[in-house]
Amino acid sequence: MAFPDLGLRVRDVQDRIDAAQMRGGRGQTVRLIAVTKTHGPDAVNAAAACGVADVGENKVQEVLDKMQVVAAAVRWHFIGHLQRNKTKAAPHFALIHSLDSMRLADALQAAAAQHDRVQDVLVQVNVAGEEQKSGVAPAEVEALAAHIAGLPSLRVTGVMCMAPYTDDEVTLRHAFSGARAALGTVRAAGHGEAHELSMGMSNDYEVAVEEGATLVRLGTVLFGARN
Ligand SMILES: *Cc1c(COP(=O)(O)O)cnc(C)c1O
Repeated sequence: MAFPDLGLRVRDVQDRIDAAQMRGGRGQTVRLIAVTKTHGPDAVNAAAACGVADVGENKVQEVLDKMQVVAAAVRWHFIGHLQRNKTKAAPHFALIHSLDSMRLADALQAAAAQHDRVQDVLVQVNVAGEEQKSGVAPAEVEALAAHIAGLPSLRVTGVMCMAPYTDDEVTLRHAFSGARAALGTVRAAGHGEAHELSMGMSNDYEVAVEEGATLVRLGTVLFGARN
């Protein structure tokens, strides 16, 4: 069987999430997204068998291929940069974490409307202003959120952020609390129901939960290093 110790790893992660919530959480519910990118469909099946029903992928073709062969009923999250010419695939995703421009919003609106569907999305914010990362600057969140409020087939359910890759807690907390502030901006800009904070990866999810994460996206800590 692939990933024989996945059950133990999931349990350990869940214990750490619980402990982080005891230390500093905000009473939120935390959902674990198993990031299965670069792994085969067996990783998705193994996650589902361990009770993890949310999986994250970052390449459109890769995830479409997996959807063809995975029978388990999982919710597919798109966590990578989404190109506008790939938005046809959007209706396959329970949640798109990476909405970062008005043009992409317009393309997703069109794709969702064509399928008579309301697409859930997160606004990705680049709190630390890292050039290699996607996401809008905190100062641009309000305008983007207001634009999306005029798009009837999109529903903004929260904010996503990737913190800088570091062990430095001050830097991490700055990024995560900046995402929390961006969520407040999104809510005030016409999305009063938005509540999700998608933040926290293998190296920083405990701090993220302390700062209010509701969705943590974990790959390495569950499936081992990617090659
Ligand atoms: C790959 C990826 C993750 C998972 O990263 P790990 O460090 O392996 O946990 C989370 N979020 C995004 C956006 C990713 O691209």
